Amino acid sequence: MNKYSMLKHDDKLAIGVSGGKDSLSLLYVLKKFLDRHGWQAPIAVTIDEGVKGYRDESLEIVKSFCSNLKIKNVIISYRQLFGVDIDEAVIRRPTKKMSSCSMCGTFRRRAMDLAAESLGANVIATAHNLDDQLQTFMINMFAGDTERIGWIYPESVSYSRNGIKKIKPFIEIYELEIAFYALQRQIPFQSEECPYMNESIRTDIRRFINHLEKSRPGIKYNAYNSMMKISKDLRSLSTHIDENNCSICGRLSSNEICSVCKTQKTLADTILSEAFSYDL
Ligand code: SF4
Repeated sequence: MNKYSMLKHDDKLAIGVSGGKDSLSLLYVLKKFLDRHGWQAPIAVTIDEGVKGYRDESLEIVKSFCSNLKIKNVIISYRQLFGVDIDEAVIRRPTKKMSSCSMCGTFRRRAMDLAAESLGANVIATAHNLDDQLQTFMINMFAGDTERIGWIYPESVSYSRNGIKKIKPFIEIYELEIAFYALQRQIPFQSEECPYMNESIRTDIRRFINHLEKSRPGIKYNAYNSMMKISKDLRSLSTHIDENNCSICGRLSSNEICSVCKTQKTLADTILSEAFSYDL
C-alpha cells in the first residue's frame, strides 16, 4: 500500500466485499490497519448480482462478519440499479458472445462507483490479487486489447475524473496465500462458485497458470513482474480518456454511449424484438 501510495489519513474508504476469502480478508486487514492508525472506519459494499442460489449465502456471511467487526454493510443490487439481474440478462442476451461475466463486470464497476458516490467515499478498495491481475493481463492479450493492459498498473487507476480512487491492496499477493490467511484467521467465507464462472475464458487461464505454477514454482511472480513493466510502459502511451458524456446517462465515457447503457440497451432491444415477433 505504501509502494503505490494507496491510502492517506483522511480518505473515506468503500470496500467491495463479495463474501469470498479475498474480500473478507481484505476487509479484516484494512479494518485492523485503519483502527491502528485511528483513521475513519471503512464501509463494506456488497453487490447482489442476482444469481439465484449463489449470492444469498454470501450476503448472510458478509452481514454477520461486518456485524462482528462493527462495520457498516451496504447491499446494492443490479436489479435495483439497472433494472435487470444477471440471471435475467443471461436469458435476454442476443448472443452468448455477450458473456455473463463481461456484463457482470461492466455493471459491477458502475455499481461500485454509484455506491461510493452515494456514501461519500473517495476511495474504492477491491480484493484483486496477483492471480486475478495475471489472468486479466492474459485475457486482454488474447483479446488484442493492449490499452486495457495499461490500466492494470496500480498508478494507472488512481483518481479518475469522478474523483474516486481505486486501489487493490492485494495486487502482489498470491490467491493461495490469501486463502491460507483466511483459514488461519478463521475467517468464514463462501466457497460456493458462481454457476456462470465457466463461461469466461478466465477459468481456463486460471487453470493453465496454476498448472504452470505447480511444476515451476515462482513462475506467477516472474510473470507478474513482467506484466507490471509492460503495463507501466503501455500506460504512458495510452490515449484513453473518458472525455465524453454518455448520451443516455450523462456519465463520463470514452464513447458516445457508455458500456453500461450499451449493455442495458442491447438487453432491452431483445425484449422488444421478442414482443414484436410474438405479435406477428
Ligand atoms: S463468475 Fe461472472 S457472472 Fe458470476 S459473479 Fe463472477 S463475474 Fe459475475
